Amino acid sequence: MKQFDYPSWALDTLLVHSSKLSHNTRNSGKPTVEPIYTSTTYLHTNADALDQAFSGRLPSGEPGYVYGRQGNPNAQTLEEVMALAEGGTGAVVFSSGMAAIHASLMAAGLAPGAKILVAQDLYGTTIGLLRTAFVPVGIDMILYNLCDPNVSEIIRTEQPDVIFVETLSNPLAKVIDVDAISTAAHEVGAISIVDSTFTTPYLLQPILHGFDLVVHSATKYLGGHGDTTAGVVISARNNLVEQLRTYATILGAMLGPFDSYLITRGLKTLSLRMERHCNNALRVAHFLQEHPAVERVHYPGLPGHPQHELATRLLRQQRYGGLLAFELKEQTREAAYRFLDKLQLCLPATTLGDVYSEVSYPPLSSHRNLTAGERQKFGITDGCIRLSVGIENAEDIIHDLDQALKS
Ligand SMILES: *Cc1c(COP(=O)(O)O)cnc(C)c1O
Repeated sequence: MKQFDYPSWALDTLLVHSSKLSHNTRNSGKPTVEPIYTSTTYLHTNADALDQAFSGRLPSGEPGYVYGRQGNPNAQTLEEVMALAEGGTGAVVFSSGMAAIHASLMAAGLAPGAKILVAQDLYGTTIGLLRTAFVPVGIDMILYNLCDPNVSEIIRTEQPDVIFVETLSNPLAKVIDVDAISTAAHEVGAISIVDSTFTTPYLLQPILHGFDLVVHSATKYLGGHGDTTAGVVISARNNLVEQLRTYATILGAMLGPFDSYLITRGLKTLSLRMERHCNNALRVAHFLQEHPAVERVHYPGLPGHPQHELATRLLRQQRYGGLLAFELKEQTREAAYRFLDKLQLCLPATTLGDVYSEVSYPPLSSHRNLTAGERQKFGITDGCIRLSVGIENAEDIIHDLDQALKS
C-alpha cells in the first residue's frame, strides 16, 4: 500500500481514513483468531494486481478480493473448512439455508422443462421454494416417499434431471438410503442433492457416498448456538462450485464476515457437541419409550426403529443424531399444548440443533399448512412432538420431560 502523509490532513479527512493508522500488520504479531474483515472493498498495489483479483485468484494462488458481494476472507475460511469436512472439491457459503438450497437447485440446472424428484417429507420451506419459484416457470416436480425400499426403481422409472433428498426426515427421523439413491441417480444421469442439516459431516459425508451436492442450514448444528442464520453448499465437482459462486454473487446471497466468523467458531466444537447431542438423544429415547404417557418414539438409534440397521450402516461413530419425535398416548392438540406449556427447561422453539433442548409441535409449526388428512398420510398424528435434544445434563432433560408428561 502507498504511504500517506495523514498528519497533514484536516480532521474530517483524518476521521474518514482512520484505518490507515492500523498497526495490525503481520509484522506486529499474527493473531491466532482470524480478524473479522468488515471491508466491502479491497485495494490492490496497482491496476494490474486489481485486474488479477477480479478473476478471484492472484498469480500466487491466493484468493483475490475486490468487493464484498463476491466474497470475503472470513467466508473463504469457512468454505475451505466445510469443503474439507465433507470431502468436496469446494464450497460456497450463503446468507441462509434457503439461499443455499436455491443456489444448489440453480447450479444443478433446474431450468424450464427439467424434472425434479423430491422426497415427499422434505423441509416445508424447500417444497414451498420449489412450488413458488420453480414449478410456475415449467419445472416438473414429483414427490415420492424416497425411504421406500424400491427407491432405485422409482428413480429409473421417473428419469429425473435432479434429485433432492434429506438425510433424515422431519419430524419422524426416517433414514434415506444415500447409496441406493446416488447409484440410481448416476445411472439415469441425474444431479443428486442432499440436505444434510440433521446429520452434519460428523455423522454422514454424503459426497463419499456418491452425492453431487451437499446442503446445510448452518443455522442449526454447524453454528450450534442459535445466534447466526447461514447456509452452505459443498460440491463434489469444480464446475458446480463455479456455478454456485456465480449464483451467490449475482443473487447477492453471500454470507457476511461476522456470520462467517460465528459459524467457523461454532464448527470448532461441532464434534464435541454432536457427541453429546447423540448420547443424550439415545438416553432420552430410551426414557420416553418406557414412559406410560408415550405411545411411540421415532429415533433411528432404537433397535425397534424400522431403519435401525440402515442407520447403523450409514451413520458414522455408531451414533444416530440429536433429533427424535414421539407420540403422546393422548393423541390430541389439547394434550400436546398442555405438555408444551408445562416444560421448564426445554424451549418451545421451531428451530433445532442448538446447544439447548428445543421442542416443537409439527401440527402447529413445520406442518401447519397441511390438512389433518395430509399429516396423517405422513404419519404425523395430533400427539406428535419433535425434540431436538440439547447438550445439557441428560438427567435434567429427562426430569423436565417427565414432569411435563405427568400433567
Ligand atoms: C432450517 C432448515 C432449512 C432452512 O434453513 P434456514 O437457515 O432457516 O434458511 C433447510 N433444511 C432443513 C433440514 C432445515 O432444518
